[in-house]
Amino acid sequence: MKKTIILFLLFSLVHVGILHAAPKIILKLDDLRINKNGSASSVTLDYLKLKGVKAGFGIIANGLDETVLSFLTPYINATNAKGEKLFEFWHHGYDHKNPEFKGTGYDYQKLHFEKADSLFEKRLGIKMRSFGAPFNASDSITIRVLSENPKYKVIMLGSIIPARSTGILNLNQRVNLELSPGVPDSAYFVTNYLASKSKYSNYMIVQAHPPYFKPERLDEFKKVIEFLISEGCEFVLPYEYYKTTIANPEKK
Ligand SMILES: [Zn+2]
Repeated sequence: MKKTIILFLLFSLVHVGILHAAPKIILKLDDLRINKNGSASSVTLDYLKLKGVKAGFGIIANGLDETVLSFLTPYINATNAKGEKLFEFWHHGYDHKNPEFKGTGYDYQKLHFEKADSLFEKRLGIKMRSFGAPFNASDSITIRVLSENPKYKVIMLGSIIPARSTGILNLNQRVNLELSPGVPDSAYFVTNYLASKSKYSNYMIVQAHPPYFKPERLDEFKKVIEFLISEGCEFVLPYEYYKTTIANPEKK
């Protein structure tokens, strides 16, 4: 009897320890385009919605047609069991040319950034909070452009650490999942995850490109989600994570 109690206590302690040690996971899923009420990212969106797993999807502004609102509404409104939003849609550039936000100068970057931002707000009725440059190619001008638009608080995988005064958070604790864009590999990810787990104990940012997943690669992605769930990881949205890092969340 005593032995059982001791074993139970030990198990509980280990279990609690694991839960506390698990980093938060920010899924950065790139290249969402919507055309004729469909998208190459649909299967991934539906899988995550069914699982109740939170994820950030980066939208390319000129990859949207007039069906975007009807297509995205079920995902914009999707919530988990706690009633929290499942998806954050973030700014992934206007035309996704390489480079769009690195070495292209202030006027060019400002125009592309704001043109895309107005389009997102007009077509989707949502205020974006986070940005990730196409090809993760950005420079100090990108930070300036971002900080000039007060809605934006987050850059993902930026190459410059923004000055505190900008109020912009760079989420850059990256753990690789893909061998190349659109090619997730679960064994590769688990190795990287275990190697980074103690270094990135607060959060990890995990990038993938759902539109290019072949069926067997979608299976690899799903295996990784299952693995992270079994690890006790909590999935969080980029802007949601930002809000946990500031003392007084803004009331906008
Ligand atoms: Zn991209």
